Amino acid sequence: MLIFLTSLAFGQQTAYPPLSDQNWKICITNSFSQEKDLTLNYRACLDDISATFLKGEILGATQAIFSFAEFHDLRRLECSNDLKLEIYEVGMKILNDKTRFSKYQNMGNLSAWGLYDPRPFQPSISTMILTNHGDRWNKVTIAHELSHYWFDRLCWNRLWEKSPEDFAMDFEKYYLK
Ligand SMILES: [Zn+2]
Repeated sequence: MLIFLTSLAFGQQTAYPPLSDQNWKICITNSFSQEKDLTLNYRACLDDISATFLKGEILGATQAIFSFAEFHDLRRLECSNDLKLEIYEVGMKILNDKTRFSKYQNMGNLSAWGLYDPRPFQPSISTMILTNHGDRWNKVTIAHELSHYWFDRLCWNRLWEKSPEDFAMDFEKYYLK
């Protein structure tokens, strides 16, 4: 499997409304292609997680997600070929602020460490939000949320019989083995 990374302009940038008041240390734009026709464009705004770490985890987790999908006979349906990914790192208070993210949180008293928002009103962009918990846990969170992205991007809802959350949880177990 051949993967390469390049820098690329993200095109028009639309601010993600729940976080439009935030300032990040760095925002970077990247893309990588897998098997020529499958490119992931992403923009990441980070505070403490390093861009190099993020890039490595995205590449590693993507390979693992594709292997996991192959094992489950999930073909790549490419129904949303251009789906871009925005990634934000915020503090726990912000991620768990229900005035910002009420729609996506049904966790009772548990705190979320990451969040994937498919942005139904903006079908060409999905958002992943991360909090920093050190490399080991960041790796798990990035892999989990990224599996939601590829699940949407490659339309595996048409082939996978359980819920999208089951997909992410099953993948997580596979990835951590
Ligand atoms: Zn999930």
